[in-house]
Amino acid sequence: MSAFIPLLAALIASGVCAYQRAGLRTWTAVTAVAIVVFGLIAYAPVATVVTLILFGLIAVPLNLDSFRRTRISAPLLKMFAKVTPKLSDTEQTALEAGTVGFEGELFSGKPNWSELLKQPKPELSAEEQAFLDGPVEELCGMLDDWQVTHELADLPPEVWDFIKQNKFFGMIIPKRYGGLEFSALAHSAVLQKVASISSTAASTIAVPNSLGPAELLLHYGSEEQKDHFLPRLADGREIPCFALTGPTAGSDATSIPDFGIVCKQMHEGEEVLGIRLTFDKRYITLAPVATIVGLAFRMYDPEHLLGETEDLGITLALIPRETEGLEVGRRHLPLNVPFQNGPVRGKDVFVPLSTLIGGPDMAGHGWRMLVECLSVGRAISLPSNATGGVRAASAATGAYARIRKQFGLAIGRFEGVEEALARIGGYTYATAALSRATAAAVDRGEKPAVPSAIAKYHATEWGREVSRDAMDVHGGKGVQLGPSNYLGRAWQGVPIAITVEGANIMTRSLMIFGQGAIRCHPYVLKEMQALSIEDKKERLKTFDRALFGHIGFGFSNAVRAFTLGLTHAKIGKAPGDAYTRRYYRKLNRYSAALALCADVSMGVLGGRLKFKEKLSARLGDVLSYLYIASAMLKRYEDSGRPEADRPLLAWAFHACVWRMQMALDGVIRNFPVRPVAWLLRALVFPFGRREVPPSDRLGHRVAALLMCPSEARTRLLEWSFMTPTANNAIGRMNALLPDVIAAEPIERKFLKALKSGKITAHEYTEKLAQAEQQGAISEAERELLQRVHDATLEFINVDDFDPSELVAAKVRDGKSGKESGKGSKQAA
Ligand SMILES: Cc1cc2nc3c(=O)[nH]c(=O)nc-3n(C[C@H](O)[C@H](O)[C@H](O)COP(=O)(O)OP(=O)(O)OC[C@H]3O[C@@H](n4cnc5c(N)ncnc54)[C@H](O)[C@@H]3O)c2cc1C
Repeated sequence: MSAFIPLLAALIASGVCAYQRAGLRTWTAVTAVAIVVFGLIAYAPVATVVTLILFGLIAVPLNLDSFRRTRISAPLLKMFAKVTPKLSDTEQTALEAGTVGFEGELFSGKPNWSELLKQPKPELSAEEQAFLDGPVEELCGMLDDWQVTHELADLPPEVWDFIKQNKFFGMIIPKRYGGLEFSALAHSAVLQKVASISSTAASTIAVPNSLGPAELLLHYGSEEQKDHFLPRLADGREIPCFALTGPTAGSDATSIPDFGIVCKQMHEGEEVLGIRLTFDKRYITLAPVATIVGLAFRMYDPEHLLGETEDLGITLALIPRETEGLEVGRRHLPLNVPFQNGPVRGKDVFVPLSTLIGGPDMAGHGWRMLVECLSVGRAISLPSNATGGVRAASAATGAYARIRKQFGLAIGRFEGVEEALARIGGYTYATAALSRATAAAVDRGEKPAVPSAIAKYHATEWGREVSRDAMDVHGGKGVQLGPSNYLGRAWQGVPIAITVEGANIMTRSLMIFGQGAIRCHPYVLKEMQALSIEDKKERLKTFDRALFGHIGFGFSNAVRAFTLGLTHAKIGKAPGDAYTRRYYRKLNRYSAALALCADVSMGVLGGRLKFKEKLSARLGDVLSYLYIASAMLKRYEDSGRPEADRPLLAWAFHACVWRMQMALDGVIRNFPVRPVAWLLRALVFPFGRREVPPSDRLGHRVAALLMCPSEARTRLLEWSFMTPTANNAIGRMNALLPDVIAAEPIERKFLKALKSGKITAHEYTEKLAQAEQQGAISEAERELLQRVHDATLEFINVDDFDPSELVAAKVRDGKSGKESGKGSKQAA
């Protein structure tokens, strides 16, 4: 038995070194010492020598740099060059466009939590807070969603004016150009608050502040273009839109068929060099009211008027609305959320070269310009709008579940409804933390390509889940549209957020892991970049360094995933308090498991992984849930570890971890090379799948929290419009909640009086009066019950209409409906 001790010592020492990420030299030294020391202790000289020789056969070649490079790394470099899929220009541009933040740590298998926790707490400046409490509050008070979505199919003129005058369109524009120059956090807070009352207004405001002319001009515009356009965009004299998508080029935006030919033509009385454009764009937000149209097209110079190159590539221009031949003004109708959206078309439209964003030097750089700017806008606009929506849904559904009574009980007391409320509360907490973390990353100067895709996908998907649950809890009240319905339009509009700025299926299956794996992996990009180094010696040296780093990384992750799996993540150094330390440990475990599975998938499947979207999507899910869970823990820390938030944090955290486990299980179960899958299962789930979804008891606590005013509930509803104004039923219902709760024990006394049979009246007010006369309730209690009863009816009631009110105006006015949709048919 003692003969095996040196071998065992070697294995354990290697395991410890791998777990701790020791370098090659340290591993060699520690393992050799362990073999000798334990061999001596066990009095096994022969076994010690044999083990040392075997160990030396492996360790010595690895430690001899030139031998390792020429004999091991060089042949592997050749193989690697053969199997590595060549990145398309589009992919290369996308990869180079962003930065790597904390998501890189999560992908490393051993996250350095201090990197997360030392990030400054994101906060609004006094000026930003004043804007939120002033103009944003005022704007929210002006928004009547029924008027916008049904009567006008547009924002009323006074709202448009207010938005422009108060520079809502200039949040990202620097002050020197007359903009507000807000932080990303403030930008996000404004969108959240507006979205909590009107998704039409929020979408309208989001677009000029997201990817579009202002952002592009700021980064690439000539000084002349900046000086001219930015002040006019900031105060709304110019309304921008950006037209990329067309009937044949949607998700595959680089395939746009729209083209521009460089030519000379008479323009304003003189012959100028310009571009003759032909394009057919659709779905373009703000296009119907835009005064300048940002346009993406492919530029060709067949007569070589600009230089040698004929196909210059994707190029961006800013075209004034009044340009001859520009067809703009017709509208699409996106699911009854009538923000301005429509087609933009033109045939042989001539524009001078000065319309190119950044001038002729930027011709052909359009795709890079778009991708470089994309992540910043995407990190804010849709995640913030979704967060505003889920916060409002939480407020509304929590209050409604307490106000609405059936079978003598508030419906939120029934376990079935409680389950839906728990999901609403948990996902709202997670979405809000995600949105805040991504905005904070932008404020730190990151271009968060992977987090923005995570935020876009998960915030909008949770928006969809929360919206569905909110509708279910409201029953018929949610279904019947009208001025008193505060949920239906948001629910109808959910697929819009799912589709825009990278449709969700593609974002999940192609982008999150596809970009995350290469971008966040500490070695893959370095290995790939080594291939393009011209100098042979340098190429081999760089590749060798990356390769052996990668091998050590792989071993380390296997050991860490297995060890943390064996112990169910009960060990290891972790930050946090007594409550959250176990959460950090769990994330350590799944970080290692993700890094292992990702490496194995890339190593075994190589370029094929790109087409195995179902595997790639699940790996992306693990990265996403790790990111979201970290964002929640950071939020908890930043809020001063509030005990009151724990049910929300715990519910959302367990939901994330459970989903991580199921995603990893899905990867392993469907991994095409079965023996590899068996090995992965043994390493990742040595005791099987032991994570469980949030418990019913936890769900009960979250549901209770949603139905009762508290410090945690107020934090959950932060940055949502809760002022009880006439246009804000959710705010009014929320304000009624304390009275509803105070009335509950009195209602019980009143019910007891009713059951006694002494109350003979039929009408509610009379019954209350009798109860008071009989001493069952006091006068103040009667008044409270009456007040709550009347107010409750207002929230329970739905609208009804004279049939003529529901007939489309066109038909009512005697016009035929046949002309509708003409433009779309033309495009088709
Ligand atoms: C209301 C609205 C506003 C918009 N505003 C603008 C705007 O202002 N400017 C602008 O240029 N564009 C705008 N768009 C366009 C938007 O960005 C596109 O709709 C989006 O890119 C998807 O294109 P598509 O609708 O043609 O879907 P398609 O590309 O046809 O995709 C259909 C489905 O296939 C999936 N899919 C496609 N490729 C893959 C893949 N490789 N792997 C997995 N799944 C895939 C998609 O995820 C989607 O689910 C807007 C769209 C809408 C609906």
